[in-house]
Amino acid sequence: MHPKRPTEIFGLFATTTVLPGVGPKLAGILEKRIGAHVIDLLRHLPVGLIDRRARPSLDHVVDGSIATFEVLVVKHDRPPPGTRRPWRVIAENETGRLEIIFFHARDDYVARALPAGERRIVSGRVEIRQGRAQMAHPDHIVDPDNSAEMPLIEPVYPLTAGLTPKMLRRAIEGALTRLPNLREWIPQTVMSERNWPDYATAMRDAHHPQTADDLLPQAPTRSRLAFDELLANQLALALVRHAAAEAMPGRRFAGTGALTATLLNSLPFTLTGAQQRAIKEIRADQQAGSRMLRMLQGDVGSGKTLVALFAMLHAVETGVQAALLAPTEILARQHHATINAFLAPLGMEARLLLGQGRGGARKAVINELADGTAQIVIGTHALISEGVSYHDLGLAVVDEQHRFGVRQRILLGQKGRGVDVIVMTATPIPRSLAMTAYGDLNQSRLDEKPAGRLPIDTRALPLDRLGDVVSRLRAALAGGRRAYWICPLVEESEKLDVAAAEDRHAALAQALPGIDVALAHGKMKAAERDDAMQRFRSGAAPLLVATTVVEVGVDVPEASVIIIEHAERFGLAQLHQLRGRVGRSDTASSCLLLYQGPLSETATARLDVMRETNDGFVIAERDLELRGPGEFLGQRQSGVPEFILADLAAHQDLLALARDVARGMIGPDNQPVDRAQCDLLLSLFERDSAVRFLASG
Ligand code: ADP
Ligand code: MG
Repeated sequence: MHPKRPTEIFGLFATTTVLPGVGPKLAGILEKRIGAHVIDLLRHLPVGLIDRRARPSLDHVVDGSIATFEVLVVKHDRPPPGTRRPWRVIAENETGRLEIIFFHARDDYVARALPAGERRIVSGRVEIRQGRAQMAHPDHIVDPDNSAEMPLIEPVYPLTAGLTPKMLRRAIEGALTRLPNLREWIPQTVMSERNWPDYATAMRDAHHPQTADDLLPQAPTRSRLAFDELLANQLALALVRHAAAEAMPGRRFAGTGALTATLLNSLPFTLTGAQQRAIKEIRADQQAGSRMLRMLQGDVGSGKTLVALFAMLHAVETGVQAALLAPTEILARQHHATINAFLAPLGMEARLLLGQGRGGARKAVINELADGTAQIVIGTHALISEGVSYHDLGLAVVDEQHRFGVRQRILLGQKGRGVDVIVMTATPIPRSLAMTAYGDLNQSRLDEKPAGRLPIDTRALPLDRLGDVVSRLRAALAGGRRAYWICPLVEESEKLDVAAAEDRHAALAQALPGIDVALAHGKMKAAERDDAMQRFRSGAAPLLVATTVVEVGVDVPEASVIIIEHAERFGLAQLHQLRGRVGRSDTASSCLLLYQGPLSETATARLDVMRETNDGFVIAERDLELRGPGEFLGQRQSGVPEFILADLAAHQDLLALARDVARGMIGPDNQPVDRAQCDLLLSLFERDSAVRFLASG
């Protein structure tokens, strides 16, 4: 549900069918690829431009260049039906001749577009073939009377399956005409200092780049739009935080220490210094009168789950309940198993709550949560679904921050009174970014690995050495090792990816006779996937072929080899996550990055970083540097998801400014100085939960 939007931006949140040329079918494609609303198209910024201003003489064209010519159509050389010859149109002007070529021309399209004896402006790539200027399939053909119809400089948008550049440009041009003039929210001093245009101008100019410089993140138009987004984010964080603190004052959770002491004594290992520090920081928050909102960051395998368990037990000691929210069922089950193993010496048992359709057992857990019998519960978003209520929830731990938004955190908070929240993330975020991108969220960092962990030996190898890789794998498996084989998942076609994983599974099963090779991917039935994971976990199947479903948190400490196929397709953060599946015991582990050459410069750099370091915090810093402009990593890979216009690497300098300006927009009473203005900015950037707080405040 959306809160009520300010009327002046209604038009921007209309569905794309209001735009010229956008019917239900195109709207469907747009929704899937870009977004459902006009504003989504506006935020889809060009990545390049085509300059059509060159109008060379036809006897002096540069082979392969983009050029525009006004020509007289002389004659058509139309292919006889049933032949494969192209349709050739001869045209000319004072400077020479141009052959315009069409392959597989449909019907009379060419005859209509280029009528013999008439003049037309054509624009596209010209090539020289046997001394003659040719243009195959011009990008534009317009009547000279309507020459304005042809853009002289044309924006180029990221390629999107199912959309032609023309359709997209037309829709975006339509969207631009709907831009209202909005009351400025950036202080005038900042505007003039940075030479920033107003919002509507910035948006229009961003879609009409005149030079390559206009495409850079530092260009005034781009940085203004990025700033708006960062500002909205800072404002939302500040308001939600204050509003939450006021609406639901915190409680002091001062436990007896009985349960946590028993846990500590029963551990087969000692806590790392970082774990001890984090446990102490969290306990101090729990005992304080205000609500805790703390981010627990730590590299894979740094022992976050255990830190969270200490916090949960501390809460339970005070008589309240604790919940752990995981992003997937696999992870929820796994946390449940791990935590129950730790709880066994205490004679306690955590409950598990997953999605719909598990009848009786589910019902029982829901009842136990309501009457308070269940003290610790682990589950998926089912934990925050409407039908689930708690006797007295005091602590919520949210695993993997980047799969959940502020909204889920708030829903969790609403399941109890003064609920403390810990957000756990395995994607280390550079310190500077964490401070600014997450506002005043408190941080605990587990920057130390449990003792005895060996660095993971990491190598990169081209895919054409697959044969060698399989022989080495065979030897490793024969030596009792357990291995993951990861196949990439590219969002464009999940079906093909699954097929690739299935093929790889079949090929490996054949190449490794006598070995049970398990397969897990996202399109499998849950039961089948669980079975595969179970076989791998127990060692019955020593090799698991999987897509990135194993990316986060899967814990099989006995696995010590990971092979990542098409490593060049993954971002650094994701590679690091995947690699973290091994190196979880005192056996030396190895990671093999199989790549398909030739590698781009950035891909090479990424693989180098992986080979050079095992430290997630270092990798996070390098990731930030490497994600240069023009490279579009998926949100999941960037670690900091909420931004579309801002690029945290390129716009780092704007973060502190956004925080300062946001502070200026909030008065000493923690209320917006100008409510309507805040509402406008937050609504424009869909920081809905913040808007809701404004509405209720
Ligand atoms: P994370 O969630 O941070 O990736 P886990 O909590 O899954 O890490 O911990 C990884 C493994 O290390 C688990 O098997 C856990 O039991 C174990 N572990 C946690 N803390 C320590 C420690 N201080 N010493 C040794 N092993 C530990
Ligand atoms: Mg408290």
